[in-house]
Amino acid sequence: MLIAPPTMAIERTLSILKPDALQSAVAGKILSKFEEAGLKPVAMKMLHLTQQEAEGFYAVHRERPFFKSLCAYMTSGPVIVQVLEGENAVAKNREVMGATNPANAAEGTIRKLFAKSIEANSVHGSDSTENARMEIAYFFAQTDLVRYEWTGRK
Ligand code: ADP
Ligand code: MG
Repeated sequence: MLIAPPTMAIERTLSILKPDALQSAVAGKILSKFEEAGLKPVAMKMLHLTQQEAEGFYAVHRERPFFKSLCAYMTSGPVIVQVLEGENAVAKNREVMGATNPANAAEGTIRKLFAKSIEANSVHGSDSTENARMEIAYFFAQTDLVRYEWTGRK
């Protein structure tokens, strides 16, 4: 009897191109990295976060010593928020992003290539499917998510 292979989970994750990425004009290169990894964009917009929006988004980090500085940084310029969809999108996005500290990020990752520092590290990505759901809902309505066929770079 043939046993079907486990079907890979199609997930969605929240991605943010942080102010340093837009400021240094590498947004296009970063978006290419996601396309090359087979992560399909299903919603995207540019925002300049308010202090309240940044604090709300990073509420889990409010007790961390870098919280105030992180929120000041995240409101320092525009960002692009997007929803990426694909097989194991949460983990795949984290892989393409690289480690939080660019000094520890693997070769070829976004943070290795573009990040300025552990704080100005070019991208955010949800760390679990549960957080992805909450983070997507923080910025997007269900009706903002676009359904379309995507060939990708096959
Ligand atoms: P990640 O973005 O890789 O999930 P964290 O969730 O731990 O990392 O931290 C959220 C963000 O806070 C980081 O992406 C980075 O911008 C900032 N940050 C994390 N650690 C530090 C630190 N030690 N000093 C300054 N900023 C930090
Ligand atoms: Mg995180």
